[in-house]
Amino acid sequence: MKITDVRPIVTMPIEGLPWLFVQVDTDEGVFGLGECTDYAVNGHLVRGLEAIKSTVVGMDAGQIENVWQTIFHRFDDLNGRGYVSHLISAIDIALWDIKGKVLGAPIYDLLGGAVRDRVPLYTHIQDYNSEAGGPEAAAKAARKTKADGYQAIKTDPFPTQSDPSAGFSGPAEVERLTPENIRKSVEWMDAVRAEVGPDFELMVDAHARFDVASAIEAGRALEHVNLIWLEEPIHVENHNALRQVRENVNLPLCIGERHFTRWDYTEILANRLVDYIMPDVAWCGGISELRRIAAQAEVQYIRISPHDALGPISIAAGFQVCMTTPNLYRQECLHTWFPTFEKVVTPMFDVREGAIFPNGRPGLGVDLNMDYVEKYLVNPDTREYLNLDSGNDQDATGQWIQD
Ligand SMILES: [Mg+2]
Repeated sequence: MKITDVRPIVTMPIEGLPWLFVQVDTDEGVFGLGECTDYAVNGHLVRGLEAIKSTVVGMDAGQIENVWQTIFHRFDDLNGRGYVSHLISAIDIALWDIKGKVLGAPIYDLLGGAVRDRVPLYTHIQDYNSEAGGPEAAAKAARKTKADGYQAIKTDPFPTQSDPSAGFSGPAEVERLTPENIRKSVEWMDAVRAEVGPDFELMVDAHARFDVASAIEAGRALEHVNLIWLEEPIHVENHNALRQVRENVNLPLCIGERHFTRWDYTEILANRLVDYIMPDVAWCGGISELRRIAAQAEVQYIRISPHDALGPISIAAGFQVCMTTPNLYRQECLHTWFPTFEKVVTPMFDVREGAIFPNGRPGLGVDLNMDYVEKYLVNPDTREYLNLDSGNDQDATGQWIQD
């Protein structure tokens, strides 16, 4: 069974969040779905997919590892960790979908079978910078999310650009947290903690924004909140800097959404610099690579918790690995997007009790509802809707649900 085409599909049913799905076609009519969404540069990924298409068209769709290795090594001058690993991810996920459909089995069955009956989730409330109100609003959202059945929540409580007077131009800079903004982040988390009780699982995301001194001060100030983890406290390139945070903050640490392929994780895991990792299946190298990274973490008794802030094909792919991964913490989701996912994929994920349950269908277990997806097709560079007169009501919103 040969690969005959690689087709990007960029759709934006939630304003501001264009998802890049990829359909891989074969000469036997079976096709697979993948995803490698990057909200900022989907256009470049579409062109990258076009660039690798001539390499993968004609290859055996069943030889997933051969396709993976071929793309990784043929384009290694672009560095396989990052841009190329995004492209590989989309193809790899689609090929696993194809294999599952051909063999009539869920992907997790092909990876060794389920080790659990459901995949527990964690979700989000608003971040400080989402301008959705102060600590009281965050606490209220946390209460509602807990009432909805979720057992773990993440938020970014840190005000951005702590010191505008220093002339920083935006989040591209290494940010500094002022004492005032550390105090505000503590107020935010104290309000949330008071609302959900002492045993509810909370995580804090710093989005890889801060310098080492800020990260250490903020981490120490949050120690009393009893967090599952502090995520990406500093920029991600320097492991020695991460070690300094590690040695000076008494909180579990997590990294991963900015790390790609097993090679990015080897040193971090071997040197025990974090307590959790969160690779993104649509960026790290797909289902094949997420499985390998998880096994590396298992060696160190470290749990994985796949990053997931993209479209529903990505969460479907991560789910398949989570079902068969022993050292899982939880899979990330944004539960406020589920009403939109329900229109984009069929069948919708079986979400209950803060978890996704398997539906037993072959491959990824979901298909795209193309009638709906096509209404919201966008130009990947400009994000302009292409089918405005086809019933696109643009009623969807990416805003947090607050009530
Ligand atoms: Mg994050």
